[in-house]
Formats: sequence, structure tokens, C-alpha cells
Amino acid sequence: MTPKKEKPEIYAPHIPAGVIETRRLRELLDLLEKRGAKEAKITGELIFVLGEKPLSAGEKDSLPYAASRYEIPGVRGIKVCSATTFCNRNHQDVLSLALELDKKFYGAELLMKLTVGLSGCARSCSEPATKDIGVMAQPQGYKILIGGNAGINPSIGKEFATLKTQEEVVRLVERVVDFCKAHGRKMVRLGKLIEEKGEDFFREHVGYPSH
Ligand code: SF4
Repeated sequence: MTPKKEKPEIYAPHIPAGVIETRRLRELLDLLEKRGAKEAKITGELIFVLGEKPLSAGEKDSLPYAASRYEIPGVRGIKVCSATTFCNRNHQDVLSLALELDKKFYGAELLMKLTVGLSGCARSCSEPATKDIGVMAQPQGYKILIGGNAGINPSIGKEFATLKTQEEVVRLVERVVDFCKAHGRKMVRLGKLIEEKGEDFFREHVGYPSH
């Protein structure tokens, strides 16, 4: 029998609309660090409103994290549910997989936008079915959904494959990024592109041919 996973001790404050004064954020960090917090899971974006004081080029260079590339096409920051930090229902370690995918593909330049989302189980808290590439952990591996998107004309991603290992997922994402580099164009999403090119053509390109 698989041993039951320990749920970590957590505190997840409800911050209405995700907006908090920097002063309050600092207080919260100080307080929780004193209680033993070493890291935090930030869901979605963290945006500091600088008001009248824009950063100079030198200041931008000295910041510890590069600015998010949310305004331009390419591979967006990888989204992942709260598995392993907040929730222990995950079947696989999707957090380490998300970090690896982010390291390898975030910011890859494309003419189009490409979103990737992972969830630790079928409850889908990170909504992988609405991402261009959705990865949903299962007891035996990862279900891959392709071609979803939110936005003005939302679509649900179609089941594409079930993969056993993290390495297979990374390889597939790499090939999908290559496909988008070769065939993508402005303002088109992956699902639409596959519709235009044909699913068989797409499957051949990414190494999962139709039977
Ligand atoms: S998708 Fe599953 S593993 Fe992830 S946060 Fe939701 S319930 Fe937990």
C-alpha cells in the first residue's frame, strides 16, 4: 500500500482581489518567517505597482528576477496547481516538472502565444484543459491535453496521449514548441493551427503518429 503523504502545515491568506499594500506584504512575510516559513507558492502573477517612479535601465538590470514576458508572444510562464506546497492530492510531482518546463521553455520566442498548465490530479485546479498544452497527472503518469485556450473564443483541449515519465512530457513540449516555431503565426492558437494543418500532420511532427 502506498504510504499516505504528509500534508505540510500551511497558511494561505485570502487577499481580496490579490491586491495588498507592500507594507502589509512585508509585515506578513516577517511574521510568517518568524513562524518558520521558508518559501511561498504564488498563484498567478505578482505585480508591483510603481506609480510615478519608473525603473531606470540600471535598476531593472539589478533586480533579482527578470520582468514577466506576458505582453509578447512566445511561451508563457508555466502554470501549476498548488500540489506539494498546499495540497497533497497530487499523483505525480508536478511542481518539479513545472519548474523544469519553465527553465527550459519559458520565454521561447514564437510568433504566437503558447500556454502550458499542469495539475496534480483530475480536479484540475490550474485548469490545464484551457491551456495550449495541458498536463494532468494520473496514478500511472500524465494525461496530455492539446489545443485548449481561454480568451474570447475558449476551447477545451483534446486528449492527445498518456505519457509515463517526466522526460516524455518534456520531450513532447519541446516538439510542440518546435512545431509552433515552424508553423506558427501571429494571433493564432495551437488548437486552430492544428485544425488548419491537420491532426495527422501535427502528430507526425511531434512524434506521436495516428495509428
Ligand atoms: S489539481 Fe489536484 S493536486 Fe492540484 S491542487 Fe487541485 S486537488 Fe490538489
